Amino acid sequence: MLIEVPPEAEAGRRVLAGKCQCGTVRYRVEDAFVYASNCHCSNCRAATGSAFKPFAGIERGKLEITQGADALLVVGDDRLNDTRCAACGSLLFSVVRDGEYVHVALGSLADAPSMRPTKHIFVGSKAPWYVIADDLPRFEEHATQLTAEEAAARSLKKVSAISLFVEDLQAAKSFYREVFDVDVVFEDETSVCVKFDHLFVNLLSVSAAPELVEPYGVAGRESGSRFQLSVWVDDVDGVCALLGERGVELLTGPTDREWGMRTATFIDPAGHSWEVAQALS
Ligand SMILES: [Zn+2]
Ligand SMILES: [Zn+2]
Repeated sequence: MLIEVPPEAEAGRRVLAGKCQCGTVRYRVEDAFVYASNCHCSNCRAATGSAFKPFAGIERGKLEITQGADALLVVGDDRLNDTRCAACGSLLFSVVRDGEYVHVALGSLADAPSMRPTKHIFVGSKAPWYVIADDLPRFEEHATQLTAEEAAARSLKKVSAISLFVEDLQAAKSFYREVFDVDVVFEDETSVCVKFDHLFVNLLSVSAAPELVEPYGVAGRESGSRFQLSVWVDDVDGVCALLGERGVELLTGPTDREWGMRTATFIDPAGHSWEVAQALS
């Protein structure tokens, strides 16, 4: 018997159910995970047949096989293994850390755990065809504790929000909602914040802008553009057709640029310049 049957979970503790694909093996685990990660190492990718393995760690005694204990396929030994269903092959969990912990393959949980993966690990060996599309911290190998200085340096490399100063807040809000189909995540009397994939664009009334930029002034429309925001797309002509349907008038393009992009530009109601650009092959 490779899996110790732990004492009954303490009363009041939330318990999560998990099972393999065919349902032969079922387990339960306390909703008390100590850590959770997405591992991109080649072993985890091969073990799951996937881009990465989301897993969560917990003391071994807090996981109990409730059905199919005689139908387990244990690859490894009692202190370090991958535990699968012998009938369907599903990876359920791995016994790790000298047998003290299990790493539950989160895909095998039927219930949602309170803890979600907080980081990507072994990103140095991730699948080249997979693009990580969230803002969780990434580690080349194992997660390491960052020094305060490293954490500060890392945080500076990520643009989180851009505030655009607008004269007519409601016109700007309508424009961003209709043209970009982005959600409003915050709104008050002087600002409307919309969320792009990894970027918040905060539309801020010019009435509230001076205190942010003093001692300098807020530029008027007639001062001209000082920057441009770009969205990289696969098919700039297709995107321009869509923009046309959404009532956007292009300022330029689509036109091939000598730096290898096909671009088109337009402005929002406050005059901020936007570009959609496609790499030319
Ligand atoms: Zn199974
Ligand atoms: Zn791994």
